[in-house]
Amino acid sequence: MNLQTGTLFIVATPIGNADDISVRACAVLSAVAVVAAEDTRHTGRLLDRLGIKAKLLSCHEHNEAERVPQLIARLQAGEDIALVSDAGTPLISDPGFRLVSAAVNEGLIVSPVPGCSAAMAALSIAGLPTDAVLFAGFLPSSEVRRRVRLQELSIRTETLVFYESVHRIAATLTAIADILGTDRRVVAARELTKLHETVYRGLVEDVLVQVNADVGGSKGEFTLVVGGATESLVTDVELDKFLQVLLTYLGVKQAAEVAAKLLGVKKNAAYKRALHLRESADNQY
Ligand code: SAM
Repeated sequence: MNLQTGTLFIVATPIGNADDISVRACAVLSAVAVVAAEDTRHTGRLLDRLGIKAKLLSCHEHNEAERVPQLIARLQAGEDIALVSDAGTPLISDPGFRLVSAAVNEGLIVSPVPGCSAAMAALSIAGLPTDAVLFAGFLPSSEVRRRVRLQELSIRTETLVFYESVHRIAATLTAIADILGTDRRVVAARELTKLHETVYRGLVEDVLVQVNADVGGSKGEFTLVVGGATESLVTDVELDKFLQVLLTYLGVKQAAEVAAKLLGVKKNAAYKRALHLRESADNQY
């Protein structure tokens, strides 16, 4: 009986530029018994380029549940296994969660071989605060659920990071402007580390214009970095009191504008609050 269990290595691979693979990643991929890959053909091409011969086994969203017991058994039998995804770090909006949690539950060793991740690459060049970051992955594809999720995120003060498909980039920027507000700074990083790497920067509507105007902007992979909500200097109760006074003299829009200017709160937020107060007052009659 083998008392020495194997190690599950979680290996990051490049997000575009094949030279971004680490020396250690190459050593681990060469040494393990099996490389579990999201797409064996894709990883096969990477390994060929690196001159690495490895036994590949598919492990993707649709077969992970059945692969997990097989891979756990191999680890328990003493084999080392590397998990890779198509690009970047496995589990970061990529398959692998089931396998890693099962390995952890079994008390097996799970070890990272860190490297590329589009989120970290985009954050490193965004020039937006990185002291607190909320990685939001892909927004839901349904329009309604996407808006609900953005609504939830609208009050978060951390810098937000999203992955987005090229087909939805314009719709997502529009939804961000509508729900998070037009004053959000956005960095849309396209095709990072690749030939057509492009970084669009500015307020969300400027970025939307740049993306729409650039013919190449409709192609490639995007990571969006969005500035967080600015912390208001007044509490909601104080804002309501202020608005209540203003609403006795002004309409909802004007009251919101005055409150936003004088209290340094977001126009959008002041407007929503003012509307709510006016509607509640109207309902009392
Ligand atoms: N696990 C990967 C990682 O660590 O970056 C992410 C996988 S996720 C399925 C793929 C998404 O990552 C793409 O749709 C895009 O939003 C983002 N992405 C991947 N490569 C990128 C690149 N070169 N430039 C910008 N974004 C990229």
